[in-house]
Amino acid sequence: MSRNGRRAPPGFPLSIERVADASRAAPLLRPQRPVHEAAEHARRAAAPTGLGLDSEAVRARMAERVRAAGIGDERVLAALAAVPRHQFIDSALATQAYEDTSLPIGHGQTISKPSVVARMIELLLDGAAARASGHLGRVLEIGTGCGYQAAVLARLARNVISIERLKPLHDKARENLAPWRSARGLADIRLVYGDGRLGHPPNAPYASIIAAAGGEDLPAAWTEQLAVGGRLVAPLHDAPGRPQRLVVVDRTEAALRHSVHEAVHFVPLRSGLA
Ligand code: SAH
Repeated sequence: MSRNGRRAPPGFPLSIERVADASRAAPLLRPQRPVHEAAEHARRAAAPTGLGLDSEAVRARMAERVRAAGIGDERVLAALAAVPRHQFIDSALATQAYEDTSLPIGHGQTISKPSVVARMIELLLDGAAARASGHLGRVLEIGTGCGYQAAVLARLARNVISIERLKPLHDKARENLAPWRSARGLADIRLVYGDGRLGHPPNAPYASIIAAAGGEDLPAAWTEQLAVGGRLVAPLHDAPGRPQRLVVVDRTEAALRHSVHEAVHFVPLRSGLA
């Protein structure tokens, strides 16, 4: 049952009215690479030269690359330009931190590609509640990984609740985010060790829900925990073995509506803890 006593709508795809296929003829985002290819790329890629990794100019250049990939929301670009991505990855890979690419973070997982992070946040900011408030409100992130996206979200949200099912990554994210969690002007970030398929009922409902791992269904808990006016963005296989696409679900008083966007390539959404 939902908070107002009415039965929550069942999960995707049963009850969700498909409103649009917004897939573009020329996809904006190249899919992210599988983990083994990301690792191989990281080994081969040339290091950026001439600028220290802590420099604002390096981050600004990455934001410009993301803009060139089609992201137009200045708030998202500013948030990307503010977060030192190299601090979230292994120092051996740090020289690739400001390329628009996913990179391995251990345990078979990857840090997401900046243009994909940006696109998903841009989509969230275009939801009804976020348009009305000008920010993401209370955000649920499924798949903390190294914590990078949580740090970006924290610049645009009121609260961030981020769930990770792999204990070593949850612990690593806690370490990586420690300097950010006390920073003034940033949203509070709460890290939860748990199965994100269940969402996180104690803090529901969420104005924004973002998944960093792709499954074959949208867990019912996510749509149940989405606030009225809220928006969910997640990678989803529309059939087993088919490519993932970004799916947007909007919740109104009466319905859940979904639209389908670019092809992406995320690590799989798994059940249970590890
Ligand atoms: N948000 C990260 C991306 C991490 S990769 C970033 O900033 O780059 C996706 C993460 O989702 C992995 O760490 C993986 O362990 C996690 N994951 C997969 N299934 C999950 C589930 N059911 N609950 C919570 N986390 C999950």
